[in-house]
Formats: sequence, C-alpha cells, structure tokens
Amino acid sequence: MFTRQQLDDIRVTVMGLGRFGGGTGVIRFLVNQGARVTVTDLKPADDLADSLDLISDLKLEAVHLGGHHEQEFTDTDLLIVNPAVPRDSEWLQLAIDANVPLSSEIGLFLQFNPANVIGVTGSNGKSTTTALIHHLLKEAGIKAHLGGNIGGSLLNSLDEIESSDWVVLELSSFQLAALDQMFCSPRIAVITNFTPNHLDWHGSLEDYRRAKQTVLRWQCSTGHAVLPLEDPHVSHWPVHSDPIWFALKDTGGRGVYQSDCGQQIIYRTKNNESRWEVTELNHLPGEHNLRNILAACATALSAGVPGETINQSLSTFKPLPHRLEYVGEFAGRRFFNDSISTTPESTIAALDAFHEPIVLLAGGYDKQVDLTPMSARIAEKTKAVSLMGQTGNRICEQMNKAAAPKTVNCAVHESFEDAFHWAMSQSYPGDIVLLSPGCASYDWFQDFRDRGEQFVDSVQRWASHQTN
Ligand code: ADP
Repeated sequence: MFTRQQLDDIRVTVMGLGRFGGGTGVIRFLVNQGARVTVTDLKPADDLADSLDLISDLKLEAVHLGGHHEQEFTDTDLLIVNPAVPRDSEWLQLAIDANVPLSSEIGLFLQFNPANVIGVTGSNGKSTTTALIHHLLKEAGIKAHLGGNIGGSLLNSLDEIESSDWVVLELSSFQLAALDQMFCSPRIAVITNFTPNHLDWHGSLEDYRRAKQTVLRWQCSTGHAVLPLEDPHVSHWPVHSDPIWFALKDTGGRGVYQSDCGQQIIYRTKNNESRWEVTELNHLPGEHNLRNILAACATALSAGVPGETINQSLSTFKPLPHRLEYVGEFAGRRFFNDSISTTPESTIAALDAFHEPIVLLAGGYDKQVDLTPMSARIAEKTKAVSLMGQTGNRICEQMNKAAAPKTVNCAVHESFEDAFHWAMSQSYPGDIVLLSPGCASYDWFQDFRDRGEQFVDSVQRWASHQTN
C-alpha cells in the first residue's frame, strides 16, 4: 500500500465517478497529493454532469466516460474502485491479473485517518443512526466528523482530523466488502438490523451477511459492538469486542433499553445503572426510529458522552430529509415525506409509526420484489391509497386480495400530479398524508430526492391554496 507521500506522481485510475460525492472527493484528494489521475465510468457525461462540474477545476490525466479502455486497468499503479462496481466485473479482473493494487475512497480514508472510528451498518436505518450519533457527539462538545455512505468524502478534511477526534461513518455492504481485504474494522461497530437486501449485487444472502459482519470481524477487545438484541438475525453473530446490546424491551441485562413506561432510557453496565428522561420525539416517529435512537445512545455512551446531555441533544436533532420527514401541518392534515422508502419493509415501518387515519402515496419502479406483505399492511392501516408507477396496479390487486377488515379507497394514476390531487381529495383534517412508496423511483423521477422534492412542492402549493 502507498503512503500519502508515495501517491505523488503515481498513475491512478478511478473506476466509477458516481453521483454522491465519493468519486469526486477521492479524485480531488489524489490530484492534491500529486497523483496523475485517469477517471473512467460506464455512464456517459450527460448522466454525470453534476459530478463533472465538481471536478472541472482539476488537472486530470484523462477522462473516459461512456465506457472503459483496457489500458486504464492494466497499465496503472493503483486502481480506485467505486463501491457499486460488481466484483465479477471483467475490467476489475484485468487489473487483478496485471497485479495492480486496488483500493477505494473509504479504504484510502481509513488508511490515512488518525482518529477513532465509529462505523454504522445494517439493512435499514443506517443514515438516520449515523447522523444521530454524530449529532450526539457534537452536542456533547466532542469533535466529530461525518462521512461514508451518507455522502461526500472526508479525504479532503484529513488535515483537520486529529487523533483525539471521532469519525462517524455510514458503511454500506459494498464498502464493507472492500474493507475486509484491509483487515480493518471500526473501533465502535454499530449494526442497526439485518434483512435480505442487495442480493442482486451480492449473489447470495450469505455473501451479504459476510459483508455486513466485516464491521465486527477485525475488531479487538478494546473496541465496542453496538448490537440489536431483538434482531434474531444478528444476536448470534461472532463478536470479538465488548458487546453493548440495545432493545425496546428491558431484559434486565447489560445494555441500553427503553423503560417499560416508555419515558426513560436505561443504560446498564456490569456494576451500574443510569436512567434519564426522554421527552416526546415527534420529529422521529415510529418504533423503528426508537430503535435507531437506542443504537445511537448506546454508541454515544461508549464514546464517552454523558447520559444527562443526551435528552437535550435528541430534541435538537434535525432529521434527514426524505426519511419520514415532517413537512408540516396544513388545513388540519400532517404531511410526511418518506421518499427514501424504496423497500416494502420501510413502508411497513412508516405505516406503523402512525395511529391517525393515513392517506398514502405508494408504488413506483418494479424491482421484482415481493410486495404482498406491504400491500396487506397498506390494506390494514390506511383509509385511501394513491398508487403510482409500474407497481401501482399490482399493489391494488394484492390489497383487494388481502382479507382486510375494511375497504380502502384505492386509485392508480398516470402522473404524480394526478396521484397527489386524488390523495388530497381523500384527506380530511386529522389525517396523515404520507409519501412512502416502498418502491424505487426511477420510472417517473430522477431519484428519490426528486420524488420527495416534488411531493414537498405539491404540499406547499396545495397549502397556499387553502389559505388564499
Ligand atoms: P438506510 O441508510 O439504511 O437506507 P435511512 O435512515 O436512510 O436508512 O432510512 C431509510 C428508510 O428506512 C426510511 O424509509 C426509514 O423510515 C426506514 N427506516 C429507518 N430506520 C429503520 C429501522 N430501524 N427499521 C426499519 N426501517 C427503518
């Protein structure tokens, strides 16, 4: 592996520019170290315009988009691989056969980072938990840096990161698979939960599980592992560090729990127990968010945050956009944007977060996953459903087949505008109006952000007509 100084004047190929800041971050870092960087991506320039803008000031050796050249993989000193590149890529194999060393944005960061690392992974709730941990540390006066899969790159902040700081990283299974080759795990590893996901990339559940377990695999006894006690998929995973369990139900053992009355968080160590009050957390609704909160508290406590500061900090946390984000209350309806819900489980979690009548906007691109449990839950929990995209008709049929105790008004639409207007026609004061599609967005929208932003714009336009 190269030291930072050794990156000067070497030839590096960056495979996959991407659109979330990791690619542009690593390119800027490498150029600043004096490396001669070639960027290549299978996507054409039009699809990568925003990322290309971000690196337009850099002097690059070559930029090759819309395809790859063999020489970029065989005749280079280092290959930086985007986490989304499939491991069986023939291009990657060319580099391996030519003995070219491989790394990744997160791999380089961990190689040069001097600070303590908290790594958060899991199938759902990673970003929320990561952002919450970062917030709890910062509010306690600890110098903490946020990065990884949540977006952007910390490589260009390396010079500001000190050994006494904490770095909080969201780690996807793709990123973890790369870390395994470095025999590297974070000092505090956090697992939110585990359900089958990304099987198209991993090929098998076993491979996906193995990638997630990397976060624990190379830890030593001085580290901590924050683990979900109530998740049977995770509770028996091998752990080499100090385990700290979190659960909604207090088992009386060591760990972080919600008290039986629901008003307190309990932190129990071998010799001690502390409790502190939690106020209403309306901005983080749902049991699933409570689990994320407990995981974040357990992590912050392990990093030295005093329990007493946690309640105050939880109430000042600003939730991430598009994740069951509270848009506002207008004409008696409360609006929530959960556009990031691209899996049926997250829509079920969103529905379970409310007790009021729900008007739901759901459906989207067909990823060929089983939508039956989600459709049954929709039939049970909502009063009206406005359906969108390729899966709209299927969800409607499955809802009708589900033996729900009541009939739900349901309509399939051809445009988002129609879907929104119909949803509003079904809503009354006291209702929740929820966008939680349970499906990917790319049939009608650019991405989940675009979908969420269109929803928020529509809500605001609708609200302004109510007051005029
Ligand atoms: P990730 O980064 O793992 O995708 P996010 O925090 O971005 O997770 O949340 C993504 C979606 O999953 C949102 O719809 C959110 O409401 C739902 N979600 C968040 N936490 C959990 C959890 N612990 N269990 C189930 N669903 C969750």
